[in-house]
Amino acid sequence: MNTQNYLADFLAAQTKKDPAQKVFHQAVREVVSSLATVLERHPVYVKEKILERMIEPERIISFRVPWQDDKGEIHVNRGFRVQFNSALGPYKGGIRFHESVTQDSLKFLGFEQTFKNSLTTLPLGGGKGGSDFDTRGKSAAEVMRFCHSFINELYHHIGYHTDIPAGDLGCGAREIGYMFGQYKKLTNDFTGAFTGKKPNWGGSLLRPEATGYGVAYFAQNMLATRQDSLQGKTCIISGCGNVGIYAMEKLLQLGGKVVGFMDYDGSIYDPDGIDAEKLAFLKDLVFVRRGSIREYGTQFTHSQFRPGKKPWDIPCQVACPTACENELDEPAAKTLLQNGCICLCEGSNMPCTPQAANQFQAASILYSPGKASNAGGVAVSGLEMTQNSMRIYWTREEVDAYLQKIMKNIHESCLASAKEYNMPGNYVAGANIAGFKKVADAMLDQGLV
Ligand code: GLU
Repeated sequence: MNTQNYLADFLAAQTKKDPAQKVFHQAVREVVSSLATVLERHPVYVKEKILERMIEPERIISFRVPWQDDKGEIHVNRGFRVQFNSALGPYKGGIRFHESVTQDSLKFLGFEQTFKNSLTTLPLGGGKGGSDFDTRGKSAAEVMRFCHSFINELYHHIGYHTDIPAGDLGCGAREIGYMFGQYKKLTNDFTGAFTGKKPNWGGSLLRPEATGYGVAYFAQNMLATRQDSLQGKTCIISGCGNVGIYAMEKLLQLGGKVVGFMDYDGSIYDPDGIDAEKLAFLKDLVFVRRGSIREYGTQFTHSQFRPGKKPWDIPCQVACPTACENELDEPAAKTLLQNGCICLCEGSNMPCTPQAANQFQAASILYSPGKASNAGGVAVSGLEMTQNSMRIYWTREEVDAYLQKIMKNIHESCLASAKEYNMPGNYVAGANIAGFKKVADAMLDQGLV
């Protein structure tokens, strides 16, 4: 059998089934494009139809979420949980609350999560959930009523040994708190059925920082392969949530100079670079006051706020997209390369379009896919589950030591798999192959289920 023909037929059949699910197809294509040699060397994956089984979620739960706003008016949103793959452990993955959420976007995220979780080396399956509900502009009481209604249905389908949701875009510790509260009331059971909880009632220290810190650690590991470091490197970041802000913090601690960043309103160019005082201002602005980075531009006079503009034209050596899928396109990739970018470390899931990714690969810069470099968040979620099971808390230092070790292991396993399958230095291929093989082998072991 010709593997290229098999893969082409496989992708065509998949696209035909759900022609509208573009972002999910994109994610599948990205993984499959790394697998030809793996399938040639291990024909059992083809014979046992592992790919065909892997792209079909084990279960999708789709439900109605009715809630009342502060004026008493009734609203109806859609809720989903995509329980993608449980070969390695209970389904694990975040909950996204954003107007862009559809079954398509959650299938893409659940698929990515399966490989990401596999890379962490922890016993976690993959899943993702959410709603087309936007927390922005809603009062705390409205968010609470929505979260309770969401859980009134979802609680039937989740649990400590079944499916453990966490946060994602639009869903932080506040929303996890409301969901956990309702889950506990309905089940009469205080277990770690969610991660991303606040540390005073079961959360792990360093969970909020984990994804962003992990991104910076991964960039550091990549640079070290070229006898380089973050010391003195100019960096830009998109996305000003947990991931972006804590990536910024760790990049600074590791010697980087962050000169640009972005939120939903526009971007900031700060040629002097962010320091501890500016970072503290930004944290208060984003996490406490939930404001726009426009204010940063007025507060710090050397910096410039650029309304509605992305940061990719700001010259930098290290770039970390941390906002959302397909946020970085081919022209942006070309600009980054022309301006001397040597390291592109993804903090969000699939932020680069396929054409942008091709540019980075062709230029042979250090380029890591989100499923490897942003796995620190779910890894510390796994550590939160461990602490809950043991009924103890680890210190920040203990969690950080695990996180650094896990990011280093992921980095090494990407490089080792890329080398083994003749694509040395290709982190995208390495992450896809390492993530795939572990899940595929577990599926073979467990038979046709
Ligand atoms: N949403 C985050 C991710 O994409 C975290 C998931 C989790 O902690 O379960 O990895």
